[in-house]
Amino acid sequence: MDSAENSSDILVAGSGPVGLIAALSLARAGFAVTLVGPPPTTDDRRTTALMMPAIHFLDELGLIDPIREKTAPLRVMRIIDATKRLIRSPVVTFRASEIGEEAFGLNIPNSVFAAALAAAVLDEPAIVWRKTLVARWQLSGEHATAFLEDGAELEANLVIAADGRSSPARNAAGITIRTHSYEQAALVLTFSHGRSHGDISTEFHTETGPFTTVPLPGNRSSLVWVVTPDDAEKLSRLDDAALGVRVEEKMQSMLGRVTVEPGRQVYPLSAGLPARFAQNRVALVGEAAHVFPPIGAQGLNLGIRDIQQLVEVVIDHSADPGAQAALDLYNRRRRPDILARTGVVNLLNMSLLSDFLPAQMARSAGLSLLGALAPVRALFMREGLRPGSGFSGIWSGLREQIRR
Ligand SMILES: Cc1cc2nc3c(=O)[nH]c(=O)nc-3n(C[C@H](O)[C@H](O)[C@H](O)COP(=O)(O)OP(=O)(O)OC[C@H]3O[C@@H](n4cnc5c(N)ncnc54)[C@H](O)[C@@H]3O)c2cc1C
Repeated sequence: MDSAENSSDILVAGSGPVGLIAALSLARAGFAVTLVGPPPTTDDRRTTALMMPAIHFLDELGLIDPIREKTAPLRVMRIIDATKRLIRSPVVTFRASEIGEEAFGLNIPNSVFAAALAAAVLDEPAIVWRKTLVARWQLSGEHATAFLEDGAELEANLVIAADGRSSPARNAAGITIRTHSYEQAALVLTFSHGRSHGDISTEFHTETGPFTTVPLPGNRSSLVWVVTPDDAEKLSRLDDAALGVRVEEKMQSMLGRVTVEPGRQVYPLSAGLPARFAQNRVALVGEAAHVFPPIGAQGLNLGIRDIQQLVEVVIDHSADPGAQAALDLYNRRRRPDILARTGVVNLLNMSLLSDFLPAQMARSAGLSLLGALAPVRALFMREGLRPGSGFSGIWSGLREQIRR
């Protein structure tokens, strides 16, 4: 295994969105990258709401212009408490214009995004894409070796584990993970509707989880409907017409007549948080580093921030990007953001499921506060877009007032 082409500084394991974006970002930063993972599936019915900071980053990689017309802007996000509980909160509406933005982000069909990412990776001469799986890892202090299913052996200084929630690379690195399976599953589908969505995404909070509509171009929206695994199974067995009636009822005909498009999928929900985000020449990104339920469109946004910070660390440690000092720095930098997002999303999800009155009161009080106080809402919106910017937004607002 001593041929130069079987050895590279950086090996990205996993070809989901995070692996493909990581490989592209590192290649554009001047590194030679080996990517290992199968071609992405074209049958992913989900859409992904990506916030503006992630969109700007992808735009710089040339990934947004070719797909822009298949995406829809998210100008307003609304939370409706649709629980039948004793304590309920008022509707909370977040408008991007309130914080001087045209839109919070764009909603992108996953199949469109995956095809665009794969095309860009194939076009990038600094990436060698081996369309197979890693069968086994051997990690030493000096380097990492990947034994591929096609029989090849690859050596690298740094392994970027973008190999998903059960991440074999994470396990090989000896990083333990705390996991939790929720009694919830997300039914995902696309529907057209009689009335315009007005670029509004609506998250109905119910006792089984959120029911979220997200705009697509024209009078179409995607739906993520979180219910018990049994109910998800039953709903997914309905024909399109019967399912359309259920969806319309749930939204109280808010978007007019609903027509469900053929094809739906069910995703079981779980949470996972590793003890560290890098160790033994392996750095975790995307769902290898954090798994939580789809509330508030956070997962891939967080994965893109993993990549941005990892690229910075790799540039600063280009002599040996997998050295312990580089891994320690990445671990320290990612910890606060990942812990905060994972904590908030899981807490919100559990407060929805909980019959415990104080938990419902806390959730309701939090949402009421958001609904009533514009500065708190602005803080929340800025934090949702970019961690830390909410507080700096308050600070610059205060400075502005003092100056006046
Ligand atoms: C219903 C739903 C809706 C969502 N909506 C949003 C949203 O609106 N906004 C948002 O930001 N996030 C959203 N998310 C989260 C988002 O989908 C995930 O964060 C994202 O898909 C994670 O991508 P990934 O590349 O890390 O993992 P994956 O997509 O799971 O990719 C992992 C890859 O690793 C490969 N792999 C596995 N084992 C190996 C191996 N041994 N060797 C090589 N490759 C391997 C797999 O084949 C796969 O290609 C949603 C999630 C769900 C479930």
